Amino acid sequence: MATSRTGTSQYKKARKKALHQAKANGIDRCPYCKVMLDYDVGLKPNSAETDHVIAHARGGQDHVDNLKVCCRRCNQSKGDRPAPKTSTVLAVKPLKTSRRW
Ligand SMILES: [Zn+2]
Repeated sequence: MATSRTGTSQYKKARKKALHQAKANGIDRCPYCKVMLDYDVGLKPNSAETDHVIAHARGGQDHVDNLKVCCRRCNQSKGDRPAPKTSTVLAVKPLKTSRRW
């Protein structure tokens, strides 16, 4: 079981950077469910949050390179499952999917 380390200052810093980078790179949709991300308002199902590409339980670190932006809903439901095949935040491309909101 992974323990939550999301309260560390290192994570907060990396998270902020990852969100900033994603926004700057025009990533406006969740890579998982394609919902339009809300970078400005937190705690909404579509609020932009950071997801660990490699989970803490697998040795993932609180570094911007290990964080990927997705919506809160997916972030919370995904848990410790492996991330889809997208290498970094900067390389997120729209995936073909039939799943729509
Ligand atoms: Zn999502």
